Amino acid sequence: MISYKHEPFTDFTVNTNTEAYKAALELVKNQLGNHYPLVINGERITTEQKINSYNPAKKSELIGSVSKATQELAEKAMTSAYSTFQEWQYISAEVRANILFKAAAIIRRRKHEFSAWLTYEAGKPWNEADADTAEAIDFLEYYGRQMLTIKDGQPVESRPGERNRYDYIPLGVGVIISPWNFPFAIMAGTTVAAVVTGNTVLLKPASTTPVIAYKFVEVLEEAGLPAGVVNFIPGSGAEVGDYLVDHPLTRFISFTGSRDVGLRINQRASVVNEGQIWIKRVIAEMGGKDTIVVDKEADLELAADSIVKSAFGFSGQKCSACSRAVIVEDVYDEIVKRVEEKTKALHVGSPLDPTNYTGPVIDQAAFNKITDYIEIGKQEGRLIAGGTADQSEGYFVHPTVFADVSVDARIMKEEIFGPVVAITKAANFEEAIKIANATDYGLTGAVISTNRTNIEYARQRFHVGNLYFNRGCTGAIVGYQPFGGFNMSGTDSKAGGPDYLQLHVQAKTTSEAL
Ligand code: GLU
Repeated sequence: MISYKHEPFTDFTVNTNTEAYKAALELVKNQLGNHYPLVINGERITTEQKINSYNPAKKSELIGSVSKATQELAEKAMTSAYSTFQEWQYISAEVRANILFKAAAIIRRRKHEFSAWLTYEAGKPWNEADADTAEAIDFLEYYGRQMLTIKDGQPVESRPGERNRYDYIPLGVGVIISPWNFPFAIMAGTTVAAVVTGNTVLLKPASTTPVIAYKFVEVLEEAGLPAGVVNFIPGSGAEVGDYLVDHPLTRFISFTGSRDVGLRINQRASVVNEGQIWIKRVIAEMGGKDTIVVDKEADLELAADSIVKSAFGFSGQKCSACSRAVIVEDVYDEIVKRVEEKTKALHVGSPLDPTNYTGPVIDQAAFNKITDYIEIGKQEGRLIAGGTADQSEGYFVHPTVFADVSVDARIMKEEIFGPVVAITKAANFEEAIKIANATDYGLTGAVISTNRTNIEYARQRFHVGNLYFNRGCTGAIVGYQPFGGFNMSGTDSKAGGPDYLQLHVQAKTTSEAL
């Protein structure tokens, strides 16, 4: 592979960077409230019904609105994607990859502008928004390069008098259903993985963050992507999502979101509908109940820091977020004390202000769900920090820590997807790993330990797709820590990994007698 390095994160202690980000926020502020149409086969279509996107930190502020696809328009988009596929599949890998490289360059030049959209639309604090944009760039750079490495398939043997080849060919039309928590990176990554491998797509972004997705579609057009390869169709899951998942021309679905929706998609996709001649493929990234285990031999400051940052970065709204900490009893009281102190020191407030570590949660439904879980937590554990919330202006939930939670408590098992962490005690390291594994999920986990034997024990037995040692459990980097989980966390499709693109192709063997 041509050399690849991930996009560096912006250092906001440098004054010029801070000023540049402020200027980008100002630029975006002046564009708030605009309307964005659907894009089907390059054509802009404005519908009567709209989806409004509001600032979660300031509920009354309209970020923008997008047109809302109906089933008829979804059908039109499918027809467009299907006919465009008849040509796009034969465009060379180099040409397709070049479009990704060009798109990465466009985004890099206007990096803070995209991040500023994320600060407004998703409520992302500066560093989180910056990381989201950097990851979008990484997906473009990495999948472009990855395509060039698999463009000639894999080597197979040939006997004298024959020539065999093993090539990867695209699948067809993919439906991309992307999440609001990485509204740029995951939306862009799942879209371009499908496109660079020669498929065409229907992009249905999360209804809470559609504006950044429209901005990305514009970038792809500027980069030279032909009309009809990516069709932009925001819409409701019940109306448009189900319709497309069921559609006989849908060849695959790439979904990132909740477990319930992922399982529903998987089930619907297994039904063969009239006119359908293939088994649909589902790529699903779902939830997590991610655990940090702290050994008795450990750097305690690192442990407390890792728990707090992994639990409360972007208000815990990552499927990788630490929502459980399992502490070996010898160091339990000390860790609980340090986590309490560090959590209480976090500033909560508007993400426009970089001194606020914790911004809002995404919307009313998230706010209600998280605050309900906080009430449940008050019955199940000892509240040591947070426990309060304020929705007068935006959806703010204070970082919340429960200690002394029993292993079978609901807040130890169910995904909350907010700034809430449950801490429990284990008698020893083996028991701690057992507790960490006692979940339906298997996405990320971390072990804080200086004991080599225990690290190797966890490497084998801690059953998660992304396991980290002596660091937090969030922040996987494209091409460095391929990301995806086991069990109810999804199909273990490792985004940003060397075999991710292969999920979007099928292998064809040709054998010619010479
Ligand atoms: N890739 C992200 C991380 O490693 C999490 C992605 C997600 O929450 O969907 O933190």
